[in-house]
Amino acid sequence: MKFGHQKMPDMERTIILPPHIFEQMHAYAVASSGEISGWGKTKLVRKGGNLYVVVTEIRIFQQQINSVHTQLRDEDLTKFYLSLIKSKERHQDWNLWWHSHDTMSVFFSPTDTDTIEKISKRSKLYSICINKKAEFVGRYDRKGEHVQDTPILIRESTPNQEILDKCAEEVAKLVTVIPAPLPAVSFGYNVIDERVDAVERFLRSRRHFID
Ligand SMILES: [Zn+2]
Repeated sequence: MKFGHQKMPDMERTIILPPHIFEQMHAYAVASSGEISGWGKTKLVRKGGNLYVVVTEIRIFQQQINSVHTQLRDEDLTKFYLSLIKSKERHQDWNLWWHSHDTMSVFFSPTDTDTIEKISKRSKLYSICINKKAEFVGRYDRKGEHVQDTPILIRESTPNQEILDKCAEEVAKLVTVIPAPLPAVSFGYNVIDERVDAVERFLRSRRHFID
């Protein structure tokens, strides 16, 4: 028993991709005739008990690719870090590695996981895999360990608490949770049909129903 050493579970992080950054990342994926890798700069925002990883900028760098798989070469990685140092960026802020899977489905392959382990050895790392169909998945790693799979939201910024509160108030006022209906057979008639009838009657009354 080692109570003193038990780690608190990690708070779930959500990656926020602002629409213009998402467009750019997808455009890089579309423009490349194979897979492509890039970096992203992030900002961690704590809000309403949630942790948001807001992507503020992305870049690509000189790289060699093939159509089968992106393998981030050490020398390409070193070149990228050197360019960050030259541009006086804090390289700790550039902690998002993203890559495309061309037209294949999105997931983190064993090669990706090796790359992630290598880059996150001494730090935090967020990763995104995207494809030409604009599908995407994300994950969060720390010190070479996979911490969690990370949902990705495409939105301008973190949720607005005022709007959340206002809508919650409206929902509380207008939406009532009723017990789920018992299977229709036990009543001897079809509940679903009756609901559809009600909708049709309503639409007819509004003259929106076309036979
Ligand atoms: Zn991959």
